[in-house]
Parts: sequence; structure tokens; C-alpha cells
Amino acid sequence: MSQCVVCSKELSRRNTIGYCRPCWAKSPEKRAKTAKAMVRRWQDPELRSRMREAGIANLNGPGVRDRAIASIKARRSWEVASAHLTPEVRAKAVRRSLETKLAHIPRELRAEYKRLTRKKKFSAAEAAEFIRNQHERDMAQFRAKILRGVGDGHLHD
Ligand SMILES: [Zn+2]
Repeated sequence: MSQCVVCSKELSRRNTIGYCRPCWAKSPEKRAKTAKAMVRRWQDPELRSRMREAGIANLNGPGVRDRAIASIKARRSWEVASAHLTPEVRAKAVRRSLETKLAHIPRELRAEYKRLTRKKKFSAAEAAEFIRNQHERDMAQFRAKILRGVGDGHLHD
């Protein structure tokens, strides 16, 4: 007789999956199978709209909001959330936020922008203007260099 690969419970001779019933339900194979089936079913727009409407009806049901608030208070969810805010997570959030807020400042000039706004106390608009001019000068120089290169035939050798 074979045994369940997780809990060593004896399995019937007809069992071909190698798990007992409760362990099969928690197994990665079963999860993958269920997920795959759901991905396939989710392609059906009619199922999607039915699920969406059921979800909306559930959320608007009586007492749902109050129960959610009570649950958050009972579990002290905010403490769980802030426990996950490690210095690394915060640093990542700052990097992403800067990517959005400083999208108009070319990456190679962001240190200069920081110097202008923090040390030199220029306003963000003034600093951005300086950076834009600097960037245009850099690009003009770069284009001139490329054109000279083409003229001298350096790019062809
Ligand atoms: Zn088992």
C-alpha cells in the first residue's frame, strides 16, 4: 500500500495521485490545475459580467461595510501593513515616486536638479527651466558631435 507524500496517511490501491484527499486540496498541483481552469473560464465575457455583478451586489449588501470596519479593527490590519514597510520597501516606493514626479527631468540631470532645488533654493519651476536649457545645450552638442563624425567619415570606419 502506498502513502500520502505529505502526511504519510495510507492510500487506497486505486489512488493514483499520491496525495490523500485533504493534502491534494492544498497541493501545488491542484492549485495549478484550478488556476488554469479559472483562467480558461475567465475568457468567457458572460461569466465575467455575472461575477462582476455578483461582486457588486455582495459589496453593497446590508452590513458589509460595518463588518469590514469591525474586522479591520479586530485584526489591527494597519499594524500588519506597517510591519511590512521595511526600509527597502520605503526606498523602492521613493524611487518609483521620483520616476513619476521627475519624469520631465532627464535621469543624468536629476542630481543637478536636486542641488538646484535643495542647496540653491530655486523653485521647482526655475530648476526645471535650468535643466531644460542644460539638456538642450547637451543635446545640441551631442548632435553637432554626431554630425561632425558623419562629415569626417568616422562613423563609417
Ligand atoms: Zn495527506
